[in-house]
Amino acid sequence: MSDPRPPLPRVLFVNHASRMGGAEFILLDIVRGFAGRSSAWLFEDGPLRSKMEQLGMQTLLPRTQGNLTGIKRDRSLLRAIPKLGEMAAIVRAIATAGRAHEVVYANSQKAFVLSTFAAALARRPLIWHLHDILTEAHFGERQLKLVRILANRFAARVIVPSTAAGAAFVAAGGRKSLLRLVPNGVTLDTDHTDWDDTARDDMARARLRARLGLPSGFVFGVFSRLAPWKGQRVALEALARLPDASCLIVGSALFGEDLYEQELRSLAATLGVTPRVRFLGQRDDVPTLMRAIDVVVHPSTSPEPFGRTLVEAMLSRTPVIAADSGAAAEILQGGEAGVLVPPGDPAALAGALRRLRFQPQIAAGLVERGERRAREMFSAARMRAGVEAVTREVATARDEAAAA
Ligand code: UDP
Repeated sequence: MSDPRPPLPRVLFVNHASRMGGAEFILLDIVRGFAGRSSAWLFEDGPLRSKMEQLGMQTLLPRTQGNLTGIKRDRSLLRAIPKLGEMAAIVRAIATAGRAHEVVYANSQKAFVLSTFAAALARRPLIWHLHDILTEAHFGERQLKLVRILANRFAARVIVPSTAAGAAFVAAGGRKSLLRLVPNGVTLDTDHTDWDDTARDDMARARLRARLGLPSGFVFGVFSRLAPWKGQRVALEALARLPDASCLIVGSALFGEDLYEQELRSLAATLGVTPRVRFLGQRDDVPTLMRAIDVVVHPSTSPEPFGRTLVEAMLSRTPVIAADSGAAAEILQGGEAGVLVPPGDPAALAGALRRLRFQPQIAAGLVERGERRAREMFSAARMRAGVEAVTREVATARDEAAAA
């Protein structure tokens, strides 16, 4: 049966990074439905651009790709002053592209700030997909004030992936009526040859580990970019309490946190766990790695707005332990679909790892409930439908305002 609804509006998607963090994976899934009539405006060339073009999405880049990544969201706004000329050129370019579309959609905080002016110039409604917890722990005080003022003044809607992210937006002074809750969604690539569900016995796992060059015995892993607040330190400190376990640290410093990896390696040496830690760097086979190990841990020390990694672990049928702040409790259904531990507490994390290791019936229950929940609540299709509904909502409101 054909879809009775009008076609999706033409949307200009704006994102500042082209390296693949969680927000970029989300954007890539969202644009699928829009390819053909919409475009993406990226501040820099990189993997996101090529992946989008493979989906048939038209991409646009600034004429000169300056380095706006030097402006950190938690630092003084004064650092932005030397870049004002570059930013003005970007605003004009986004506004020009915006006029060929019905809606402007900003997928990151930097993209949002510049898109506010661009969308106002182009007279197009602006959606902000807010992938952050707006608190002073993540943002400087002035940045927080700036984004609050801009959101309340210029955003037609603010999409948040969790009630935790929405509550932080409102606590920071954002208008509640702007919010639309659309949980992030993940669909794993099941074409992968490792996705044979009969291959979940210990022998199959041992073969998979051997093929991947992973250690035997009890193995847990962290799958996040390397950044202090992602809590890899806590995982290493927990490892020091588990004498015969091993830990995988998967991910790299995507956004300028290069020294942190060195700090983690030094910490591992100080704790005497270096032989039991593997730093695997940035990988594109995360679900396969997750299936090969015993537990996925998510030890973030600041509240997470979402946590795709949790959903990937649930879909991979690997039990998960997460620090209980931000969206973790929502995703893990208050501890029904994964274990929650206090953030920044290596002893609690080590205790939870021990429990899952020695009480396999607990792990099995978590895995069953986790997979069911991930499929029901956090599919990519569900997320796409939610975001598409918001784009239709703002496009219709604009048409009605124009008609009036
Ligand atoms: N990821 C990846 N390769 C790595 C490490 C992480 O592809 O080496 C992926 C991970 O599987 C997840 C995303 O990066 O899909 C991180 O998203 P999340 O929401 O957990 O964190 P964010 O980066 O948005 O803070």
